[in-house]
Amino acid sequence: MVSRVGFGGIPIQRLSRAEAAAVVNGAIDLGVNFLDTANAYSDSEEKIGAAIKDIKRESLVIASKSTATDKKTLLEHLDLCLKRLGSDYVDIYQLHNLSSAEARDAVFAPGGALEGLAEGVKAGKIRYPAFSSHSIPLAIELMKTGKFASVQLPFNFVDSTAGEEAIPLAEELGMGFIGMKPFGGGLLEDAGVAIRYVLQFGNVIPDPGIEKLSEMREIVSIVEEKRPFSAEDEKTAGDLIQAMGDHWCHRCDYCQPCPQGIGISSVLTVESLIKRMPFKQAFRMANAGVEKAGGCIECGRCVERCPYKLQIPDLLKDKIALWKKAVAENPM
Ligand code: SF4
Ligand code: SF4
Repeated sequence: MVSRVGFGGIPIQRLSRAEAAAVVNGAIDLGVNFLDTANAYSDSEEKIGAAIKDIKRESLVIASKSTATDKKTLLEHLDLCLKRLGSDYVDIYQLHNLSSAEARDAVFAPGGALEGLAEGVKAGKIRYPAFSSHSIPLAIELMKTGKFASVQLPFNFVDSTAGEEAIPLAEELGMGFIGMKPFGGGLLEDAGVAIRYVLQFGNVIPDPGIEKLSEMREIVSIVEEKRPFSAEDEKTAGDLIQAMGDHWCHRCDYCQPCPQGIGISSVLTVESLIKRMPFKQAFRMANAGVEKAGGCIECGRCVERCPYKLQIPDLLKDKIALWKKAVAENPM
């Protein structure tokens, strides 16, 4: 069992070790016992490990992730995770961002990461095998395999598709559901509306990325208030959805393939990366993709395929400008 809200470990990468420990311990003191991190979040696992060294391990539920698609790398990531956490087990270990058919095929192939998960469970290093994804249709397919105990998908009042089938299915199958991006990756700023929306779904644990203890305090007080998602909240959410409607990328990747090889959704969501990641790391992750987006030939194929009819070529230009500004403001 976990607390009604989790602690997402992406933003602590931007903090010093002492600051991160203060935020993690402060969250635990507030009653949050579910911490979510990943191998891909640079030193996040390590900072959590350092923060919890004097805390009874059984009182916490720790989730981490590996982007590995093969068994050998997954087991290496798992051992590193345990070393960094200072623990001999991790509660939930997720295949990170299992969002494409290629990744699925690699993971399920002989010698794939799924075998690594099973081996980790057998060795007592993993309590629950799991995955995270940005693709709802693929996630539904994977949930039905019976190989995973928990699933993590984006879920907030703008990106609400998971509520239609994936969340009820998780309940039916007895799987945990971790709600990624309850604030849309930092884009939804009304914390009350965003959290109350997610809490309507009793089997979803919102997993907000936390950088400051004040953020965690605010979220916990919203949870403890137990105020239902009201008609007023619905109106606020509806107004915001309308305002964002023509430029919100849901990362579904239905717009692919792009003849220029542009990773459209990654570029369109680059603002969330700027807000959450240490800029040096965001630069490493996104710069090449944003530069490639400059090669858009405005063929319009992606616009035809996008179910939200986003004006992708224009949006790409906006995001490239935003990125250049961030690069100028963050000299490396
Ligand atoms: S409009 Fe640009 S981004 Fe869209 S498919 Fe064509 S080249 Fe790719
Ligand atoms: S641009 Fe449209 S189709 Fe492409 S990922 Fe975003 S929402 Fe989906």
